[in-house]
Amino acid sequence: MQAIATHCPYCALQCGMHIADSPGLPIVSGNARFPVNKGGLCVKGWTSAATLGHRDRITTPLKRDSAGHLVEASWEDAFALVAQRIAAVQAEHGPNAVGVLGGGSLTNEKAYLVGKFARVALRTANVDYNGRFCMSSAAGAMQRALGIDRGLPFPLEDIARTKVLLLVGGNPAETMPPLMQYFQAQQEAGGRLVVVDPRRTATAAWAARHLAIRPGSDLALSNGLLHVLIRDGLIDNAFIEARTEGFDAVRSLAASYWPERVEGLTGIPQRDIVETAHLLGGASSAMVISARGPEQQAQGVNNVLGYINVALALGLPGREASGVGTLTGQGNGQGGREHGQKSDQLPGYRRLDDPDARRHVAQVWNVEESTIPAAGKSAFELLDALGGEIKALFVMGFNPAVSAPDSRRIAERLGALDLLVVSDFFLSETTEKAHLVLPAAQWAEEDGTMTNLEGRVILRRRAVAPPAGVRTDIEIVCGLANALGRGSHFKYGGAQEVFAELGRATAGGVADYSGISYERIDAENGVFWPCPASDHPGTPRLFQERFPTTNSRAKFHPVTLGEIADRRDAEHPLLLTTGRVLHHYQSGNQTRRIDELRELMPHPVAEMHPAAAARAGVAEGDQVTLTTRRGQVTLGVTVTRKVREDTVFVPFHWGGSQSANTLTGTALDPISRMPEFKISAARAERAPSTEEPE
Ligand code: SF4
Repeated sequence: MQAIATHCPYCALQCGMHIADSPGLPIVSGNARFPVNKGGLCVKGWTSAATLGHRDRITTPLKRDSAGHLVEASWEDAFALVAQRIAAVQAEHGPNAVGVLGGGSLTNEKAYLVGKFARVALRTANVDYNGRFCMSSAAGAMQRALGIDRGLPFPLEDIARTKVLLLVGGNPAETMPPLMQYFQAQQEAGGRLVVVDPRRTATAAWAARHLAIRPGSDLALSNGLLHVLIRDGLIDNAFIEARTEGFDAVRSLAASYWPERVEGLTGIPQRDIVETAHLLGGASSAMVISARGPEQQAQGVNNVLGYINVALALGLPGREASGVGTLTGQGNGQGGREHGQKSDQLPGYRRLDDPDARRHVAQVWNVEESTIPAAGKSAFELLDALGGEIKALFVMGFNPAVSAPDSRRIAERLGALDLLVVSDFFLSETTEKAHLVLPAAQWAEEDGTMTNLEGRVILRRRAVAPPAGVRTDIEIVCGLANALGRGSHFKYGGAQEVFAELGRATAGGVADYSGISYERIDAENGVFWPCPASDHPGTPRLFQERFPTTNSRAKFHPVTLGEIADRRDAEHPLLLTTGRVLHHYQSGNQTRRIDELRELMPHPVAEMHPAAAARAGVAEGDQVTLTTRRGQVTLGVTVTRKVREDTVFVPFHWGGSQSANTLTGTALDPISRMPEFKISAARAERAPSTEEPE
């Protein structure tokens, strides 16, 4: 039995694994030669093959009949139906009445094609992707401050060598457990990990220090750390002078965030704030890494800028075993935001409003530059316009009926469309409203590249054949383009040819992949971008000599703590925050179908502090009803001191009546357009058990 070296379908660690086809389920094992996970996998990786031959797979196109049922259709009928309905919509409402939504789990080749399909085949401006709900605040902050958005500008091996690591709002012990080997190595070498999180997560419990921050107060903490660093002479003046700009304004601002005040704003004891600043400022090497906690807020970009200010003041970027970055979440959350499926972007992280970038990409696509539309709506704004300005929608790798904020309303909007086409391998909460569902091949059934959280471009190899009847997403996009009369621009012999074109399109851009090939990825265990030539070694570490800004300097930003959008009041006294758990991934449409994972965690459970639970009249194992200004969800409760008294945590991997996003709000960050998933004002009440009379 030959085992193929490939990668896990889930998170951005992109663990290396081997898959051997077998008469039953394909057999998964960890790839010890892949330097990121070194053979380790989490429970999601070990069980990932269960989705491949799953009984729920869709293997034929499905179209909705006049009675509202999904019935089988041929591929030819399906493509013809899409072409005819889109032509009708665009004839009546214009090209921008058609929207496209892609995903951060799509391969680089697919992400590239989603953007090209929207702009060349559909000629719509309205294309975006679900990374808007994941990485966009980190991306916006890193671009502004550092000139480039690569989640980690250094390889993971540097984590093992750093003396102090400040991790803000991330829980890799649950979300990407093999990553913990680097934290463990750091600890064994005498390093210290400090975790900032409203919950005492598995990662926080393991850390040397846990700062249990009040949700929404990150800018008070980062400015407070800066205050102490400046006050106590712990900043790197030589680095600030030589490699940055804008520090004076930040110094003035930080003066008003003295520890006592910051304690009141964050709930973190001032002694911990001072000691953390001294740990960071006294270390020969240090890192500041943020994740979704501070990022998924309506001031998410400013939150990340605040932590970048701390790292710049300490002179960390480019220093040995040091730096500032962010933990990417989705499988291709990095590559998926580089190659043109964002509403304002062309491949290679080029700006859509840059005339040179437009000319370059138009030439690669063999179209007139003037035909490439301008920037369109971001993901939430696009979803918000369904049934209004947007009459037809094509969705690939995204389940917005579960993962969008105020999800019940979004599910209703999906039902208001003239045409909803979804490419997926399972039915989902989103396909409940679809007019057409196109069965797609899965991760291990097709070739494609992904870019992991370090910026390492890796190759996910086809290991097993897809079921008869399904097509790859690349074949689906090309088939649709052909039906729309634009097939001459979409002729590829497979994923490798798409990647070659992607390389040409990115040449000279920020995310330059033009020197990367499938052969090099195989031979070198991945290649770090930017890599502008076939003889370029790739770039594992950024910022060692300069920042890719116009004047080569990093920029400080004076950012102050703003108000939470969804403010607490007497009716909604709690702060609801959402996140991921070990056993499930994103909207759960894959992991909820895997028996082992479902048995380990069949339902979402709310975490409440004993005092908050007592006020709500709930005890361990009871049902609690959580109410926000959007809606209500009733679910089981666990009572634990691991969560702050003012905070309740709910995982977001379930749909329907258990959807945490029924509760979340739609306030958006003004720059990244990130919704405020992490903070909703909420009320908790004991729900009557089914045995109790009403
Ligand atoms: Fe897959 Fe992420 Fe688990 Fe690795 S950590 S096995 S990539 S889900």
